[in-house]
Amino acid sequence: MSEAPRKIIHIDMDCFYAAIEERDHPEWAGKPLAVGGSSGRAVLTTCNYEARRYGCRSAMPAFKALQLCPHLRIVPTRFEAYRHESQRIREVFRRFSELVEPLSLDEAYLDVSHWRSSGSAVAREIRTQIHEATGLTASAGIAPNKLLAKIASDWHKPNGQFEVTQEAIPTFMPTLPIGKLWGVGKKTGERLSQLGISTCGDLLTHDLTEIHRRFGKLGVELYHQCQGIDSRPVQPSRERKSLSNERTFSQDLRCFEESIPKLHRLWEELLTDLKKMQAPRSIKSAFVKLKFHDFRHTTVERQASSPDWELYESLLEEGWTRAEARHVRLLGAGVRFHSRPPATHAEQLSLFEAQEY
Ligand SMILES: [Mg+2]
Repeated sequence: MSEAPRKIIHIDMDCFYAAIEERDHPEWAGKPLAVGGSSGRAVLTTCNYEARRYGCRSAMPAFKALQLCPHLRIVPTRFEAYRHESQRIREVFRRFSELVEPLSLDEAYLDVSHWRSSGSAVAREIRTQIHEATGLTASAGIAPNKLLAKIASDWHKPNGQFEVTQEAIPTFMPTLPIGKLWGVGKKTGERLSQLGISTCGDLLTHDLTEIHRRFGKLGVELYHQCQGIDSRPVQPSRERKSLSNERTFSQDLRCFEESIPKLHRLWEELLTDLKKMQAPRSIKSAFVKLKFHDFRHTTVERQASSPDWELYESLLEEGWTRAEARHVRLLGAGVRFHSRPPATHAEQLSLFEAQEY
């Protein structure tokens, strides 16, 4: 018995933070605008389309963005306001499905398989209702699975939508750039391109055994993704137990002092990610992870209720006492959360970020 294809929608708000600022300050609309830190090495969190035309991008240092676009207006983030809008958007989602999986303040998957109407019609209605509730525009991807829905939401952005039907998968996948898949970051992208693989079709000309040998589990995963296969369900209540950032360095770090600025950067990113969480959580502990050049690793963790820098610095120092003359190739900084009372589980935010190490 073959089951009817699922109807999965990925909704992604257009330049969410910048769009909220434009809505609230009409005098800024239509001109290059970014949200984020404006001093020194601080980075942009989001920028509007006018700013993107100058080459400005999120995660770009402010000084660089200002070189590209000297009249760029950079305004500080107002996470309270963004969270508030996000709540209103989630209220709209709930009218359409109980199966809503938020990925961040401005993105979510919805499983609307129970609707008689087509996925596209439902997506159009969701976008209309979001606009009525907030004055903001959203883009949508509609597909039989999460992988394709997420790729598709990018297709007709901003304020558009695109559907990849089950029947269209065999024609849609082969030309799709492999960098669009989950788990393909810069490094994997480079390794794939060395093999002449730049599209999903290219990968499928290699056999699975070879891809597995070269890329391990990730390779097998990619092999499925390249065929448009993804059976992961939309998970409404995934509770995040921890939040962390880590980075592998192209050159090993040789000592504690050398690793301090690297950890500081990760710590700053961690603070930003914590601020972005939809529902703030209470912190149980802080940890620092070190991976040595022989691939052994250690995690130093201490109970803490706030992620203070001094604490991370001392965890790092303790980590180095376990180095035994080895160099460090990866650092991580994170927090663990207290678990939440069951009643609010449905309200969880799950930040899922495919990271590559
Ligand atoms: Mg977005």
